[in-house]
Amino acid sequence: MGRFDGRVAVVTGAARGIGFGTATRFAEEGASVAIIDLDESSAAESAARLPLTDGAKAIGIGCDVSSAESVDAGVARVVEELGGIHILVNNAGITRDNLLFKMTEEDWDLVMNVHLKGAFLMTKAAQKHFVEQKYGKILNLSSVSALGNRGQANYSAAKMGVQGFTRTLGIELGPFGINANAIAPGFIATEMTDATAARLKMDVEEFRKLNAEANPVKRVGYPEDIAAAAAFLCSDEASYITGQTLYVDGGAKLG
Ligand code: NAP
Repeated sequence: MGRFDGRVAVVTGAARGIGFGTATRFAEEGASVAIIDLDESSAAESAARLPLTDGAKAIGIGCDVSSAESVDAGVARVVEELGGIHILVNNAGITRDNLLFKMTEEDWDLVMNVHLKGAFLMTKAAQKHFVEQKYGKILNLSSVSALGNRGQANYSAAKMGVQGFTRTLGIELGPFGINANAIAPGFIATEMTDATAARLKMDVEEFRKLNAEANPVKRVGYPEDIAAAAAFLCSDEASYITGQTLYVDGGAKLG
């Protein structure tokens, strides 16, 4: 008996990285899963690799979370093909780092549109179903960068915005049996942090080693670390927790 037997979970940006790790954990614990990502074939390939339990299904959907039309069509497909929607993880994300004086308006808008507008559009489309069935779990991906990070004015603002969005969802949707929380990861080994290494002209392994040494628990994080916290926050064991942001960062910001 899994914690998510009979549930349908939607994870955005889940073709790889933290999203795929989280989708995998939901599948292991009994959920049917929709993987949403920009490219439908990558989403479908990742969906086919999920460790489904008996009777559960997985689908991959090509969808741009920053487009209302694309989101509405994507969520409609989830409901039609998987029979409903109970859990939404707003995970899709991009970085467009630069120091403020070099940051373009386009890179500001791109980051805001994927993280903030994307979470808004997906949540709005899903909450209709959540309110009707008086049940739903929303999990948003923030970041330790919400607390400020050189070269990430756009990303930090978006990720702190995600925390305010989450608190407001907790207030508005609580009376309808819906919980909304956020996770703020620290350094997680994915293609996103590998791309940061490349931008800094550093070897990936060397970059991970440096980040591990600077962390109180002396290692980097992995998608499974976020997935474990995500599964708890989206489970019924966490039904008295809402509007919160949990930092899953090995204590990175304690100092
Ligand atoms: P990742 O490996 O880069 O994966 C992100 C996924 O999101 C990619 O598959 C990407 O697709 C997809 N995506 C981008 N824009 C999208 C859009 N408009 N619509 C749908 N999908 C879209 O990133 P990650 O490291 O797993 O990060 C996942 C989340 O955790 C992000 O919100 C990130 O900001 C947050 N986070 C990560 C870290 C970390 O250390 N890795 C730390 C704190 C927070 P394409 O490949 O086609 O672009």
